[in-house]
Amino acid sequence: TDIEQLLLSRIRDVADYPEPGVMFKDITPLLADPAAFGALTDALAEIAVRESATKVVGLEARGFILGAPVAVRAGVGFIPVRKAGKLPGATLSQAYDLEYGSAEIEIHAEALTADDRVLIVDDVLATGGTAEASLELIRRAGARVAGVAVLMELSFLGGRPRLETSLAGAPLESLLTV
Ligand code: IMP
Repeated sequence: TDIEQLLLSRIRDVADYPEPGVMFKDITPLLADPAAFGALTDALAEIAVRESATKVVGLEARGFILGAPVAVRAGVGFIPVRKAGKLPGATLSQAYDLEYGSAEIEIHAEALTADDRVLIVDDVLATGGTAEASLELIRRAGARVAGVAVLMELSFLGGRPRLETSLAGAPLESLLTV
């Protein structure tokens, strides 16, 4: 579609970043273009509304940039999932494995209730490790999952099959798939 073409044209491939052999998808040109950023915000907000989300959860750091305007556009609150040690209140934390070592993310324990339906927003779905840990945090916080919405899915890294169990039937929406 025209929107897919517009979004794709504003994502830059950076070779060997952050390490040799990795082709990094850089969304900063998209953020700098108000037409593209607006179209992206509209498309993600449409998913939030369609899935009756009551909260948008954004994943640090690019999920904050995309998730915040989506939450405002959809008329729901924005909740950050942050790297460990950044949130001031009582948190739930979830550790997950990276290719080398591990990472830990957190959410404010009081940020969600059993009445919430959460749409997780991020820029890129790669291996799915970050999204999987976030889904676990939302489940542990007692909320329901409305879905996961990303700008771009790197399908060769297997994130979609990895998330199948944690999604438990909720949709994984990617606007672009490579
Ligand atoms: P995953 O946990 O392997 O799915 O990696 C997803 C996380 O890493 C997301 O929070 C993304 O922002 C980030 N990420 C991985 N690859 C890329 C990329 O090529 N461009 C931008 N972000 C990426």
